[in-house]
Amino acid sequence: MEYLILGLAVIVIAVALSFFANLFKKAKPKNQSKTSNQNKSQNGAGGPFLVTCPMCGSPLPKGDNLVTKVYRPMNVPDQRCTINGCPHCYPRPEPGIRRQCPCCKKEVPLNGYLIARLFNYKNNKKHVMVTGCSECCKK
Ligand SMILES: [Zn+2]
Ligand SMILES: [Zn+2]
Repeated sequence: MEYLILGLAVIVIAVALSFFANLFKKAKPKNQSKTSNQNKSQNGAGGPFLVTCPMCGSPLPKGDNLVTKVYRPMNVPDQRCTINGCPHCYPRPEPGIRRQCPCCKKEVPLNGYLIARLFNYKNNKKHVMVTGCSECCKK
């Protein structure tokens, strides 16, 4: 009978220990994820806002920036901008790369460009929506 009680006590202690261990485990990653999120948002501000080139679809690593022109005024939430291309397709397209409009699917000439709307969100994020190219916006 005494052995049984001892055994029960050991089990209770083990459960209590694992309960506290879980509490600590749960508390720690929460703090870590919070700080990493803050770092991410700091790094993301002002960085490239497009991951692939809308003209040729090439993936763009950090630092490989698109050739774009943004028209004034700068402070409005919805700006007009033109995209000449990325280093892969402008000023000279690499072999096998086509400059194609995502809207009309026609080839965009070297002196042509994509027309896009640039949305500036309040949290410093930018969003680009391609509305056409110099060819399909003529009409
Ligand atoms: Zn490109
Ligand atoms: Zn087009």
